[in-house]
Amino acid sequence: MSKMKGLAMLGFDTIGWIEKDIPKAGPMDAICKPIAISPCTSDVHTVWEKALGERHDMILGHEASAEVVEVGSLVKDFKAGDKVIIPAITPDWETVESQSGYSQHSGGMLNGWKFSNMKDGTFAEYFHVNQADGNLAHLPDEIDVEDAVMLSDMVPTGFHGANNAEVEYGDTVVVIGIGPVGLMAVAGSVLRGAGRVFGVGSRKKCQEVAKFYGATDLINYRDGDIVDQIRDAMNGKPVDKVILAGGGLETFDQAVRMVKPGGIVSNINYLGTGDYIKIPRVEWGLGMGHIRVTGGLMPGGRKNMEFLSRVIKNGRLDVSPMLTHRFSKLEDLEEALLLMKDKPKDLIKPVVLVG
Ligand code: NDP
Ligand code: ZN
Repeated sequence: MSKMKGLAMLGFDTIGWIEKDIPKAGPMDAICKPIAISPCTSDVHTVWEKALGERHDMILGHEASAEVVEVGSLVKDFKAGDKVIIPAITPDWETVESQSGYSQHSGGMLNGWKFSNMKDGTFAEYFHVNQADGNLAHLPDEIDVEDAVMLSDMVPTGFHGANNAEVEYGDTVVVIGIGPVGLMAVAGSVLRGAGRVFGVGSRKKCQEVAKFYGATDLINYRDGDIVDQIRDAMNGKPVDKVILAGGGLETFDQAVRMVKPGGIVSNINYLGTGDYIKIPRVEWGLGMGHIRVTGGLMPGGRKNMEFLSRVIKNGRLDVSPMLTHRFSKLEDLEEALLLMKDKPKDLIKPVVLVG
């Protein structure tokens, strides 16, 4: 058998099943077949918001747990039959950017993001992983294959938001957006010692799960200006950190208006539309307020997957409350992706068991 099928972006606004050649492993690479897969809001931005530009017949997806089926001749630590965690971001580790600590941008801006951006992704019977020793991680027996999919992207992205916000013991943190990414930013902030965590979102299901992860206050952006709501709850005081994991470009303005001098605004949202971000001049201390605004793509790679999997394996993080919709065959991916696009009220994250 040399052909496989996959769910692809056929062009803007269009997805469909296509047939392609099964990829081949270079000397340092691996070919994997997915065991469990999850669609991501990023796939939605890519197809329906035209966020990355044109892509034709590109297989979507970047989240999966998988089994290795083939490795290149130079791969040392993985072999066919191994169960692995697939990071959404698979950098080229020899590049100057990786050596400078920004592996997400190995070879150029966002170029560590290969699946469903620069090459075919995980929504297929087989997919290719570059630099297997640097990018795959063995899946511990204690971690369920469906839970493991959350290690691909949701856990590392949310935790990256909390890391970039430099959350400290006792900090008051606002997480704008409590979909799966924001929920993991809540969990990451709590693990880093935050004292008070506001979660901003409207859907009841997400609010319930935000409480489970340690949000102390819930704010519904549909009930009025979130800056006013948070200022009231804080008796007029600013917050220490803001993590952006949902909403549009207006959230930067809101975040700068609620954060303290010297505070940090940490964006992990994929900004799919619009041209410029407005920062309010006065609230930004006339340019002298020491308010840092930063934004980052999640770091991928083996070490990150191995370290984050310890947090789950040893019971410090339970990702299962996020898995609200389960499917049991590859063909169901289309329905799962459309759920991610339409965001019904009871959805946090769908997972498709294929192996
Ligand atoms: P969801 O769509 O599931 O969640 C978005 C959240 O934002 C929801 O809680 C939603 O509330 C809330 N929201 C919507 N509008 C507003 C608003 N105007 N003000 C405040 N909150 C609002 O997305 P995900 O959690 O799946 O993903 C979040 C973002 O992270 C996406 O852009 C995704 O592409 C990106 N991402 C980034 C990565 C990275 O490496 N940086 C990696 C992976 C994903 P509700 O629905 O309850 O009304
Ligand atoms: Zn994703």
